[in-house]
Amino acid sequence: MAQLSVEEVGRYGRQLILPEWGRRGQESVKGNSVLIVGVGGLGCPCALYLAAAGIGRLGLLDYDRVELSNLHRQVLHCENRVGVAKSESGRDAVKGLNSHISVTTHTVLLDSSNALSILSQYDIIVDATDNVATRYLLNDGCVLLGKPLVSGSALRFEGQLTVYGWRGGPCYRCLFPSPPPPASVTNCSEGGVLGVVPGVIGSLQALEALKIASGMEPLYSQQLLLFDALGGGFRTIRLRPRQPQCAVCGENPSITALIDYELFCGSRADDKDKRVDILDPELRVSPQEYSEVVSGGKPHLLLDVREEVEYQICHLPHSRNIPLCHLQNGSLDATWEWILETTPTANDPTYSVFVVCRRGNDSQLAVKLLCEHGKAKGRGEEVVIRDIIGGLVAWSETVDPLFPKY
Ligand SMILES: [Zn+2]
Repeated sequence: MAQLSVEEVGRYGRQLILPEWGRRGQESVKGNSVLIVGVGGLGCPCALYLAAAGIGRLGLLDYDRVELSNLHRQVLHCENRVGVAKSESGRDAVKGLNSHISVTTHTVLLDSSNALSILSQYDIIVDATDNVATRYLLNDGCVLLGKPLVSGSALRFEGQLTVYGWRGGPCYRCLFPSPPPPASVTNCSEGGVLGVVPGVIGSLQALEALKIASGMEPLYSQQLLLFDALGGGFRTIRLRPRQPQCAVCGENPSITALIDYELFCGSRADDKDKRVDILDPELRVSPQEYSEVVSGGKPHLLLDVREEVEYQICHLPHSRNIPLCHLQNGSLDATWEWILETTPTANDPTYSVFVVCRRGNDSQLAVKLLCEHGKAKGRGEEVVIRDIIGGLVAWSETVDPLFPKY
């Protein structure tokens, strides 16, 4: 058991006097180590409370760098550390808070080749990532090494928390033997999140990790906490127990070493946006080519297929907002007819319809839907519809640096 210094007794006095915690709990926490995988919206508050409470050794793992759009929720980072590795920015922040703890940074993307050697250096693992491939990777690694996994997630106004692999409790695979279809998974970058929601869940992850480290029982083994920040508050549901036929923690496991998780899940193990590429090259223009259409005064139509809430944040002049979901849900024909009405009828070959979205994925889907609809009506030749490659993000990066990037 680690011994407390006089200074540490003074620092942790308010929690030392809790009978459930006491000197014994504090010394146990000092003797324990926690790895936080993902120093983002969940990992930042979690790291803050673990450091403040006096965890002996903290590991901070993240391959990514701090961006301005992280700061509303990733509260360890700050404006003058934009561009710095998140693991290092996080280390500087928690060392400033508590110089008694030891902090190790891992600036890598966790994968099957490095996971076991990194996870094995810690007593407790916190999953603060938001992609499915890493969830399976962490789960299997923790089962193989016999370590508890404190798992959290937060999206939009909703959060979840549970502890896997705690004293005979279920693992992630017991509950989800196979991954969801890749297209059904949304991350914060696509779906949005209110910053305080991961703040609440990350703080609760710190609480569960501290209870384990101090020798107390975690509350959410085989239980899932659901947090609905819009109207429902907190609710707990009981999870199914460990499954004897589970592929990794069952009685005859088929997974006895780490596998290729990107292949298994059909999705990437980072939180970056997936890029689709579904159109013929002649149906795509670069932002520069579109800006020449605008500056040359060429007549054209610009459809912006983002959600209305995003259109209200910023949009290009003279664009018309028709969300992709409207095209997918009934207004395709009306939009097609409207395009034909607006387009000069004399088959003006210089006239084009352009479609834009945030990153150039939805715009391709919209072009595909509209072109297929036109063909089905036998009128596909009457108008040329193209998407703007990379969308408004590429526009702000290559044509107009003053255009808002969100
Ligand atoms: Zn299992």
